[in-house]
Amino acid sequence: MALTERLEAIFQEVIKRNPGEAEFHQAVKEVLESLGPVLVKYPEFAEAKVIERICEPERQLIFRVPWQDDKGEVQINRGFRVQFNSALGPYKGGLRFHPSVYLGIIKFLGFEQIFKNSLTGLPIGGAKGGSDFEPKGKSDGEVMRFCQSFMTELWRIIGEHTDVPAGDIGVGGREIGYLFGQYKRLTNKFEAGVLTGKGLVYGGSQVRTEATGYGCTYFVEEMLKGKKNGFKGKKVVVSGSGNVAIYTLEKVKELGGKVVAMSDSNGVIVDEKGCNVETVKRLKEIERRRIKDYCEYHKHAKYIHNGNIWDVPCEVAMPSATQNEITGKDAKKLVKNGCIAVGEGANMPTTPEGVHVFLSAGVLFGPGKAANAGGVATSGLEMQQNASREAWGFEETDAKLHQIMKNVYQLCSEAAEEFGSPGNFVVGANIAGFIKVARAMIAHGIV
Ligand code: NDP
Repeated sequence: MALTERLEAIFQEVIKRNPGEAEFHQAVKEVLESLGPVLVKYPEFAEAKVIERICEPERQLIFRVPWQDDKGEVQINRGFRVQFNSALGPYKGGLRFHPSVYLGIIKFLGFEQIFKNSLTGLPIGGAKGGSDFEPKGKSDGEVMRFCQSFMTELWRIIGEHTDVPAGDIGVGGREIGYLFGQYKRLTNKFEAGVLTGKGLVYGGSQVRTEATGYGCTYFVEEMLKGKKNGFKGKKVVVSGSGNVAIYTLEKVKELGGKVVAMSDSNGVIVDEKGCNVETVKRLKEIERRRIKDYCEYHKHAKYIHNGNIWDVPCEVAMPSATQNEITGKDAKKLVKNGCIAVGEGANMPTTPEGVHVFLSAGVLFGPGKAANAGGVATSGLEMQQNASREAWGFEETDAKLHQIMKNVYQLCSEAAEEFGSPGNFVVGANIAGFIKVARAMIAHGIV
């Protein structure tokens, strides 16, 4: 859909005000492309300049993170926190530690997070943060010193009612633990609700570790059900082998699908018998090894160094590594090889060309801001438990997550239908997420 003149002008202004931030421009463009019919139905949103305001973060912090490595050498990284929108609740969104991190990545993720969080139905605003720090290959001591230094700056602007960070690429349970420990020391408060993704022994929630992968699988299951289909007997490819990928693998298997390939940034493993959940968990979560080592334990599996995982034929593709990993060319290949559904576990893993290929071919396409919303939704459940000092069981929490993902699917599906694009969950997610935030912003006046 072409941008209307007004939306095009807003987009050009975003490019001008945020030079060199390609990923942020891409994320904004995708949302604006969906909003034409919304402005027609609700002219008050345009009058109150809601879109212009939503594209401008409420607050951005960039800070120095000095730390000492194991050799005693001083290292310097850059830290970020972008508090994008608090219309629906305290800022909420993960921290990413990866060498590719710069302001444009954090802003794209923070912008997406506004709409994703709105879709969950929970009272949470949108934010994102992180650093260009590379945790891979660092000792526990180095990661701890880095996290302590990072929090020594970040603590001033977060809090259980203000801003609640969580994990993302490179930030898992270990990092959240070190960050929480330092926050507790600096504030002299055990404020459990300040971070989510915590360990179960100090205020974490059941199912938070599994949530994004499980949630994405539930979302794809709903899309398939809509076509009287299901995971049973389907060949599935899951890119990445981190938190999201591992629990996607686990849930797909539980629902009767077979994950035949996984990856990391060095290469791809193909296991036609179905990837073994226990081996992947042990290698990645406990031993922190590379995915190629999988083949040491499963001799029939192959490793393709620098391979392209989207060359592996499948019926369901679940990109769960990073942004822009499925190009237009990859999408064409997937369609040609019989792919009928895509669930984005990662944030913006499909390029705009790729999305176009999938939608034109009638592939069921679950965009990240809907399909991977289970992670932040369960973080929201963790906040609820912290506030009421409760700890729910695994089944109870998983059932809540499952219901939230069904609701997210329903919201996207209904909004797509109402605004003239039935079956287009990209449009549906953008519109349903946007309208709620816009209404709250208007209620708050010009802020
Ligand atoms: P992890 O750090 O646990 O795992 C990331 C995985 O993706 C690793 O296998 C990593 O390989 C691979 N990867 C990362 N960057 C690249 C890259 N530039 N090129 C190729 N492979 C790469 O992160 P998560 O599983 O938590 O996150 C994965 C995706 O899911 C991200 O897009 C994240 O934003 C999104 N997401 C995560 C949520 C969560 O709850 N964790 C919630 C919602 C979305 P390697 O080890 O070689 O770097």
